[in-house]
Amino acid sequence: MKIGIMGAMHEEIALFRDSMVDVSTQIRGMREYTSGKLAGCDVVVVFSRWGKVAASATATTLIERFDVDMLIFTGVAGAMAAELEVGDIVIADSLIQHDMDVSFLPNTKKFEIPLLGVSNFTVDDIYVQLAQSAAQSYLTNDLRTNVPENTLVSFNVTEPKVVVGLIASGDQFIADPAIADKLCSQLPGLQCVEMEGAAVAQVAYEHSIPCIVMRTISDKADHSAAVDFQQFTIDVASHFTCGSVMRLLESL
Ligand code: SAH
Repeated sequence: MKIGIMGAMHEEIALFRDSMVDVSTQIRGMREYTSGKLAGCDVVVVFSRWGKVAASATATTLIERFDVDMLIFTGVAGAMAAELEVGDIVIADSLIQHDMDVSFLPNTKKFEIPLLGVSNFTVDDIYVQLAQSAAQSYLTNDLRTNVPENTLVSFNVTEPKVVVGLIASGDQFIADPAIADKLCSQLPGLQCVEMEGAAVAQVAYEHSIPCIVMRTISDKADHSAAVDFQQFTIDVASHFTCGSVMRLLESL
């Protein structure tokens, strides 16, 4: 099995590359694809860039050019569920494109992908469980040696937890509580919002391969969302997602 690992942060891709062996690199469509072995698995690692188009193009290249049989997407996300804190990890069991709306068409619901007839892309239970265990194992066993305590404290990360649920994606950085509230009321059970996951899930669905989406909460999708965002991704989130994926690869 060959696994495509897509990240929305330069920093986590750099961490993956540091741990890879038998490495070779190809540039395609303005992306750098690094092939090699990671935790004993054949992988291709790539920085997807941001947004649904960028992520879908990258996912398609991974499938068509690099013959991956599975996709893993990692990155950061804005919390929607009230109980989520910065530093928590969300594993998608379902993904939706919150900016898709062709409900003017007969028999088409809001959020439904035209012609596909699907609104929610679900992740197989087995992969949800593997990803959940991997992230929990990272937090329990690796976190305290992986990220310095004073760094965690500086971002108010105390007891990060792993949560499973619905992730919504759209081409918009959400930093307005009014928009966040509207999304929460339209999408019951929504955990977090980001800009790529459901697009990658659609590509995976259309090619009949599994797709796992793992996100570290970087902000609460409110007016403070941009504060220290970049530093958090470098110092904390990239380690969380990279560490969790390493654990996941060991279990596949
Ligand atoms: N890392 C960049 C900022 C990227 S912002 C920097 O350092 O400047 C866009 C990325 O953050 C996307 O990958 C998106 O999926 C994610 N993201 C995090 N919080 C988000 C939010 N509140 N709304 C939408 N996307 C969010």
